[in-house]
Amino acid sequence: MSFFREEFTARSAAVRVRFGAGARKTIGAEIEELGAKRALILTTPHQQSLAEEFSTYCAGRAVGSYTKAAMHTPVDISEEATAYARELQADVVIAVGGGSTTGLGKAIALRTDLPQIVVPTTYAGSEATGILGQTENGVKTTLTSPKVQPEIIIYDAELVATLPVGMTVTSAMNAMAHAAEGLYARDRSPITSLMAVEGMRAFRDSLPKVIETPADPATRGETLYGAWLCGTVLGQVGMALHHKLCHTLGGSFDLPHAETHAVILPHAIAYNAAAVPELLAPVAELFGGGPPGLALWTFAKNAGSPMTLRELGMKPEDLGRAADLATANPYWNPRLIEREAILALLQAAWAGEAPTG
Ligand code: NAD
Repeated sequence: MSFFREEFTARSAAVRVRFGAGARKTIGAEIEELGAKRALILTTPHQQSLAEEFSTYCAGRAVGSYTKAAMHTPVDISEEATAYARELQADVVIAVGGGSTTGLGKAIALRTDLPQIVVPTTYAGSEATGILGQTENGVKTTLTSPKVQPEIIIYDAELVATLPVGMTVTSAMNAMAHAAEGLYARDRSPITSLMAVEGMRAFRDSLPKVIETPADPATRGETLYGAWLCGTVLGQVGMALHHKLCHTLGGSFDLPHAETHAVILPHAIAYNAAAVPELLAPVAELFGGGPPGLALWTFAKNAGSPMTLRELGMKPEDLGRAADLATANPYWNPRLIEREAILALLQAAWAGEAPTG
């Protein structure tokens, strides 16, 4: 297997990553390293207790917490949180949580240029990107800017130990989707491909063990390592059909984020395997051989992932409209996006049929 390309452009962000079980307790040193003195801690309402816990690690530099982070980063919440950050004269934001909390930290950074420390508690990977998705009046838009790229990430396996097994599996599939699509991205580099394969390898090896012993810090650590690699790929290369389908299903049909990624990924990879079998060969190799989409489908099934759009609440009569929306302004994709073929993909994903590619 070789990831060599005769021509490529590689870019990477200046991010400091601290890794280890219990690493969150060193956050005071990270705040000092930034030269900051007034930290605002962010969480969701569900993870509010983490805000209290984190304030004790901040070396006396926590000045407040905002615990209303919500899915898809609603602009009204971002505005309220930004006003609070200004009122407190915060000079750093600390986002403790999944992609929703990270999104709120990014939205504040966009408006204020404050530095961000992110402490992820899922595998979504947002902490490793300069991408921000925001929702206003029911419309989700996405921007990419160095202003929203977090400066420091602390990966602490003890924090994902509480992630329920079901969310662990779907969040892992969400992360693996960044890596799988990174393998055929037009702007991939040998480095992003190496990270993509190692990220998927980390999940392949650690996810079955985490399902057995969810609180084991060593295997949880390996899943976070996978999340970092997969998220870094997402931050460095463009995504294609799989992400377009998930954005359409989440944005227009309100399907849940990580679960939708988990159901769609094998089908999107099977669709694209027809066009770039050699670029997806590492996926087949990692997950037991055979067609890569089917290999991922079997891995997901064995991990207990949701396997159908039906169980996520998608109505069969909406599949045609989803195919229309997903093909109207498609992202670049290695295989031509054809409406009828996309409808067939969605129908197979709705019913939970094994992909053939
Ligand atoms: P999430 O952040 O919305 O979390 C879902 C729920 O799980 C929340 O209630 C949260 O409090 C809870 N939770 C999180 N970690 C937990 C833990 N360890 N234990 C128990 N409960 C926990 O979910 P997510 O999948 O991490 O993030 C999804 C959002 O992130 C979407 O809006 C998506 O668009 C965005 N996202 C953005 C990027 C990017 O680069 N901009 C990348 C990936 C995802």
